[in-house]
Amino acid sequence: MDTHLKKPTVLIVDDDYINREMLAYAFQSDYRVILASSGEEAIKMAEEELPDTILLDIVMPDIDGYAVCRALRLSPITQTIPIIFSTSKTSTEEEVMGLNMGASDYITKPFNIPLVKARVRNQVLLKQKTDLLSRLASFDALTKIPNRRYFDEIFEQEWRRALRNQYPISIGLFDIDFFKQFNDTYGHIAGDDCLVQVARKLSSQNRRAGDFVARYGGEEFVFVWPHCPPQKAYSLGERARQAIERLNIKHEDSDVSDILTISGGIASVTPTPEMERVALIELADKMLYKAKKSGRNQSQHAELEV
Ligand code: GH3
Ligand code: MG
Ligand code: MG
Repeated sequence: MDTHLKKPTVLIVDDDYINREMLAYAFQSDYRVILASSGEEAIKMAEEELPDTILLDIVMPDIDGYAVCRALRLSPITQTIPIIFSTSKTSTEEEVMGLNMGASDYITKPFNIPLVKARVRNQVLLKQKTDLLSRLASFDALTKIPNRRYFDEIFEQEWRRALRNQYPISIGLFDIDFFKQFNDTYGHIAGDDCLVQVARKLSSQNRRAGDFVARYGGEEFVFVWPHCPPQKAYSLGERARQAIERLNIKHEDSDVSDILTISGGIASVTPTPEMERVALIELADKMLYKAKKSGRNQSQHAELEV
């Protein structure tokens, strides 16, 4: 998250070598400059490098700038990258068309370098603000781990991937035992501090790429374990539960222990096209309820019926 320390990246797209080199030279001291000489290359580079702003030529031999812009606006990973069209076309209709297509700005050839630099700088600053806002919107303010909204996004992506590749996906829903009593005994500030410790410990359990944990609600946390069969999910869940026990946080008024414990509901499935992914969350929730009813400080697991 140290994006502010890195030079922002600008992608310059132009089929003319002289134009590319001139712009690259103008930007090299303030930005990391990457160059593309065709529409196709531009799309590929934008997806791979996620630049902070794109200077996009309109007239190019293969795919023109309008088509590149349309493609980048359709893909969720590139749709927020500002695009500045650069062109020798100057009619108002064309400018309006470009802006309506989702471009942020327009510059005309021959380039006036100070003007181009000022316009690029404005778009880069705006992009950095947008990125910061979307990061803030995805993380929980107290625990600094992903929030429910971020979970929804990740779970949807992973569900689709599991469906496409036909591999199992598991989720684990965990809830602190007798947390109301914890707050009543030690106070709300100590309760907040405890949530931060639990969140950190659960996050540190994720060692495989793709494993994910979020704060699901008040004192509830949710794991997404992609490519994870039932037995493995159960053991990951138990490992997480034991890690919280090992934190050894005093909880004298808990009815199950004298330290803080959590209960887990774990659910696994290899998705089919007819299934709704919410059914997996409902099953995990049902298993969590069972874990609570069966004495807490334990995990219960089930597989979603096809
Ligand atoms: P159970 O074992 O059945 O889960 O019992 P519980 O007391 O944990 O469950 P209950 O749902 O009755 O209480 C949850 C408590 O979590 C109540 C609420 O005040 C507390 N809580 C939720 N969010 C926060 C928070 O952000 N900070 C603090 N300090 N407490 C919170
Ligand atoms: Mg709860
Ligand atoms: Mg609870």
